[in-house]
Amino acid sequence: MTIERRAFDTRSIRRDFPILKREVHGKPLVYLDNAATSQKPVQVIAEITRYYRDTNANIHRGVHTLSQEATQQYEDVREKVRALIGGRRVEEVVYTSGTTMSLNLVARGWARHRLRAGDEVVLTEIEHHSNIVPWQQLRDEIGIVLRFIPMLPDGTLDMEEARRLIGPRTRLLSVTHASNALGTIVPVRELADLAHAQGALVCVDGAQSVPHMPVDVTELGADFLAFSGHKMLGPTGTGVLWARHEVLEEMEPLFGGGDMILTVTLEESTWNEIPYRFEAGTPNIEGVIALGKAIDYLTALGMDQVRAHEVELLDYALRRLGDLPGVTLFGPPEVERRGGVVSFDLEGVHPHDIGQVLDSHGVAVRTGHHCAQPVMAALRVPATARASFYIYNTPDEVDALAEAVADAARFFGGATGATGAAHGG
Ligand code: PMP
Repeated sequence: MTIERRAFDTRSIRRDFPILKREVHGKPLVYLDNAATSQKPVQVIAEITRYYRDTNANIHRGVHTLSQEATQQYEDVREKVRALIGGRRVEEVVYTSGTTMSLNLVARGWARHRLRAGDEVVLTEIEHHSNIVPWQQLRDEIGIVLRFIPMLPDGTLDMEEARRLIGPRTRLLSVTHASNALGTIVPVRELADLAHAQGALVCVDGAQSVPHMPVDVTELGADFLAFSGHKMLGPTGTGVLWARHEVLEEMEPLFGGGDMILTVTLEESTWNEIPYRFEAGTPNIEGVIALGKAIDYLTALGMDQVRAHEVELLDYALRRLGDLPGVTLFGPPEVERRGGVVSFDLEGVHPHDIGQVLDSHGVAVRTGHHCAQPVMAALRVPATARASFYIYNTPDEVDALAEAVADAARFFGGATGATGAAHGG
């Protein structure tokens, strides 16, 4: 399929996002909470309405026209997902409700049946809670051992420790591709090579990478890749677990019910083929179909262009915020090693208060632990403020952010003249 390439024109992109026209507290909305969820273009919003007006039917079941159309539209999106992430086969794409469910499916559907007490799963200190908690639950259930690659003060991973921790007992390495709390881009390929050399599999949390940069499962060395639709212009309640065909064949379904079976008698059941075996019950049909429009939108822009745009904004934001007295920036200083996320704090001001002042300026950022409490513990801070960028953000919005942070410093008397731009904890 050829996709028409659109020029990367932020002004025309912004016209596709109705919410960006709204005001907050009398100020134009400056939406910088994209790591939490992205806004949606009209193409995605309209597709949800179109689906319900024209096509709505249950899938995979009916011979009637509507059901066949809905099934076709739902299935067509698998190919879009496959092409986006460079998978080899369309049946390697499992629809889920989001990254959290995808990671739990790896833990419950694969690891629970393939691992034994004493087997090791290697994680990192910069994981989102959704790539920690399922593994702790499994540890408590079957006695696997968890190892954590530590974070260095600049928010990157201690690769020397990684080489030590990934060993003959390692059965799985599960790592984030990009940290939602600090932006750190993890050298997944290097880690994957270490894991594969020990015969372990590699699971990648792509929640913060797939929406923002070119991702190719083969280049990454991933055996599993998890990501969410809602962070990449698509609807909430959509997500993907991609896994190599051979690995999916080794997995057990998590849920039993309609659509995931081949035969059912009162005594026993047999499973449908992959990926349907993992998609029990009526799924989020309109969500998946609209996710297809989100992928079309990103693909037309080009993921390399999306990344280039964010690097520009990131570079500018690091300089603008770094120049402000009292601001500490967390995460790696080099833009090449981080996604479009700026985590910071302001001396003497609780991040929650920063968030409230910014909100009064119409600037939406996230404050808190960002579902990454171990990162906060390693930085020795209770929380940070986090601005995160996407395709529709502009340098003017970075200015608005910097001015609002300067205002917060004045308001709370927090700017003590301390030097800014201090990287790390
Ligand atoms: N991993 C990372 C790195 C994330 O940023 C997020 C969302 N903040 C998740 C996992 C969980 O994604 P979801 O809430 O969409 O399941």
